[in-house]
Amino acid sequence: MGGCKITVLLLVMMLWLPHGLSMGNTCSASVLEARRFFELQNEQLRRRFHEEFLSGYNYNTNVTEANRQAMIEVYVRNAELNKRLAQEIKASDYIQSEDADIRRQADHLSKLGASALNADDYLTLQNAISSMQTNYATTTVCSYTNRSDCSLTLEPHIQERLSHSRDPAELAWYWREWHDKSGTPMRENFAEYVRLTRKASQLNGHRSYADYWVQFYEDPDFERQLDATFKQLLPFYRQLHGYVRYRLRQHYGPDVMPAEGNIPISLLGNMWGQSWNELLDLFTPYPEKPFVDVKAEMEKQGYTVQKLFELGDQFFQSLGMRALPSSFWNLSVLTRPDDRQVVCHASAWDFYQDSDVRIKMCTEVDTHYFYVVHHELGHIQYYLQYEQQPAVYRGAPNPGFHEAVGDVIALSVMSAKHLKAIGLIENGRLDEKSRINQLFKQALSKIVFLPFGYAVDKYRYAVFRNELDESQWNCGFWQMRSEFGGVEPPVFRTEKDFDPPAKYHIDADVEYLRYFAAHIFQFQFHKALCRKAGQYEPNSSRLTLDNCDIFGSKAAGRSLSQFLSKGNSRHWKEVLEEFTGETEMDPAALLEYFEPLYQWLKQENSRLGVPLGWGPTDKIPSDCCGTFST
Ligand SMILES: [Zn+2]
Repeated sequence: MGGCKITVLLLVMMLWLPHGLSMGNTCSASVLEARRFFELQNEQLRRRFHEEFLSGYNYNTNVTEANRQAMIEVYVRNAELNKRLAQEIKASDYIQSEDADIRRQADHLSKLGASALNADDYLTLQNAISSMQTNYATTTVCSYTNRSDCSLTLEPHIQERLSHSRDPAELAWYWREWHDKSGTPMRENFAEYVRLTRKASQLNGHRSYADYWVQFYEDPDFERQLDATFKQLLPFYRQLHGYVRYRLRQHYGPDVMPAEGNIPISLLGNMWGQSWNELLDLFTPYPEKPFVDVKAEMEKQGYTVQKLFELGDQFFQSLGMRALPSSFWNLSVLTRPDDRQVVCHASAWDFYQDSDVRIKMCTEVDTHYFYVVHHELGHIQYYLQYEQQPAVYRGAPNPGFHEAVGDVIALSVMSAKHLKAIGLIENGRLDEKSRINQLFKQALSKIVFLPFGYAVDKYRYAVFRNELDESQWNCGFWQMRSEFGGVEPPVFRTEKDFDPPAKYHIDADVEYLRYFAAHIFQFQFHKALCRKAGQYEPNSSRLTLDNCDIFGSKAAGRSLSQFLSKGNSRHWKEVLEEFTGETEMDPAALLEYFEPLYQWLKQENSRLGVPLGWGPTDKIPSDCCGTFST
């Protein structure tokens, strides 16, 4: 049989790889039987995914109680079928199959998560999660200037105020309105979520739901590596944090921003303080070298939302990769509809059928959304690249990979070289001062994100593992945000408040360390692709990582396609090695990208006598839990 021959050949090749497994007789009757079994199961799984994502999309693009109920009904029905499949596999000997691929499929399909719960508990859990999502999607707040107008939404109204207002009282007002309304009322739902995911983890034999999440990295050492990576990056973050705090103090004065201590999040231009680049004009290292206002240029040139997506599509096509199918353009929701409520938080969808992929987001024409469009299109490209895989492998082998694909493209797109090529700026070669400005702008999103991404799941791990008492769930959250990132709420918070659900991914049960990992991996990917495209040479002053644009490189595109098309069919270390030559998550490429800025910050902070570091926040009761070690 032809299929068998190919498999034998593949396995022979795998013998040379570190994770290769012994060949055995792959054409034995039991292996052939197992393959038939998984082929059938994968087809049924694909149909279940199709049905689930359709009902999820209906709800997300039209938030009604009926659509929420319909979605949960599908989830409950499919959870039961997933559970039966897992039980069947566990009762068989597929997990011990002589065939490595059978073992991998069996292993993945027997990981159950919340589906392990009985039907009543599962329903209660889905109700808790979707209630949090609905609350997040429908929360509106009152206007600072007109308190009787309480119709302001996060996207675009509140975001616009956080980016543009320079009035600390107004900024604190919006921060508080959002947290009081999107976070605090969800405490009961969150507690229910914690209780039931704990129960599911026990049923699955996991120590906690955190351990269930960690196992997706298929590396028992991954958590320790994350901690080590964070520690490696902290000195750079402290320089950036110190410099920004100094510049904020210059702008707002010492009453609003003292010389030392934590920075109030409301001053940072983003609801969660996870990216600070909206405030670039306050901190530009060399103000005499102003940034080209890309947003104004887009407006001048009549850019539309459609155009932003077309540019992203053209970028992938220039690499020789998949074009967006016509169904994408017909079925996506790319702007906020005015006749119904939608979950505006941007997301990319795979419907597991006929290349049906879609994006749902409330796009506006500006540089922030220009980035988000590419981020989401990265997910879409991944879906298209691995659509030939069986359903169980239609995913990333490391959760961080999926979040890194679009970001890698955006690193090229946002380079001066590329912005010039598409006519948004005039000068594609930066002098030293402009280069520092540009790197600084990138660092305000890429470096600033790291302590945030780290804290979100360090917090949930502590909750899931019962290391944080329920009576300290709110202060523990701020304790971590302060300890890891030196930021704090603008007003005092107690256990009467509950702020974690003010962040979408906490409501939606989305594991978050993937974003931290993606912020490291994307620079490894970028370096590998730039090298393939002939756009980067180590130690070259001309071909540097920070001004590399892989647009049009078929060699880079081929390499990326090969990497993505494997989906989750093999261990991430194997596919990473084939792609970049590395087998670990490694911040070296990120540090190389930012090296000129790091040196500049160290010199500048020392020249200005800028204090570095921060102590504990005084915006939570002093008897909150002690510090968390990393
Ligand atoms: Zn994403």
